[in-house]
Amino acid sequence: MRDRSPEALVREEVRAMQAYHVAPAAGLVKLDAMENPYRLPEPIAAQMGTRLAEVAVNRYPDPTGAALKQALRTAMELPASQEIVLGNGSDEILQIIALALARPGATSLSVEPSFAMYRISAIAAGLRPVGVALRDDFSLDEPAVMRALEAERPAVTWISYPNNPTGNLFPREAVLRILDAAPGLVVVDEAYHAFAGGATLLAELGRRDNLVVVRTVSKLGLAGLRLGFAVGPRAWLEHFEKLRLPYNVNVLSAAAAELLLAHREILDRQTAQIVADRARLEAGLDALGIERFASAANFVLARVADGPAVFEGLRQRGILVRTFHGSHPLLANSLRFTVGTPEENHRLLEALRSIPT
Ligand code: PMP
Repeated sequence: MRDRSPEALVREEVRAMQAYHVAPAAGLVKLDAMENPYRLPEPIAAQMGTRLAEVAVNRYPDPTGAALKQALRTAMELPASQEIVLGNGSDEILQIIALALARPGATSLSVEPSFAMYRISAIAAGLRPVGVALRDDFSLDEPAVMRALEAERPAVTWISYPNNPTGNLFPREAVLRILDAAPGLVVVDEAYHAFAGGATLLAELGRRDNLVVVRTVSKLGLAGLRLGFAVGPRAWLEHFEKLRLPYNVNVLSAAAAELLLAHREILDRQTAQIVADRARLEAGLDALGIERFASAANFVLARVADGPAVFEGLRQRGILVRTFHGSHPLLANSLRFTVGTPEENHRLLEALRSIPT
């Protein structure tokens, strides 16, 4: 009798995977997921309601996404010469790229610790994931990356710019040298671009044939819409486009994004507030004597004596942060604090004051 159990039929590497864990947040101050803490101001929220009421939900979305792409081009100043592929969040873009590059035996390279989905998407697609450890201070070990490019010949190299969960921005020159040395595609993931003082590799797109940049609207205050995209040369993106499911961005998200991106100043004001509050949060952590790492993103990584205990202490005080203890040796006892509203950050600092750190 044929074995039709999941153990026999599900791919071994998928059976070995852990599902991406999202902690329940009901009733807690939510500082775990790098969301913008602000709702939309009332006038624009009302305008969105009116606009969404007009949307023809009986129809499939425009399969080309032309209007949405134009809104993204304008709002994010994307180079006119470059193509766009739309994703249901940038997570989906990572998955599409991994699927496209997963030739038998192909390798995916990322630094570690970095965004968990690089490895998860690689494994799901059938790529062999290889990690290169960052230095103890989370700086890029460029010689180690160069050696890995040479030895592993990755089809794709992922760079989070700035890096999640460490928050730092790798030196631009080092990223350019990686682009020069890489034998394959380099995906520069600019999810936290809005908080990074303008750092971007968009301008390199016309000059290099192995660079694709990934962006998202999630950290701009629109995480619930699920909208991300790749921007880059047609030669790459025409293949990614074939793997995109035809209607991956729904009509409501597209309509909302088109409206809200035309009012980017509202989102930009919130972003500026978050950047200013990041400096206050960093100063507050310093005042408490908590080890923390410089951030170019909307979160701050900290290292305490007993990470799991502080995580639990914060949760008991109504605050949900993200613990990385156990996920990578360099992240032992590490917690990531998303920058919240001034009141939320104050609550976090007060709670930390009352917990032995
Ligand atoms: N890239 C990085 C580096 C991230 O941290 C995240 C979200 N945590 C994403 C991509 C995915 O974002 P989204 O799917 O919401 O666009």
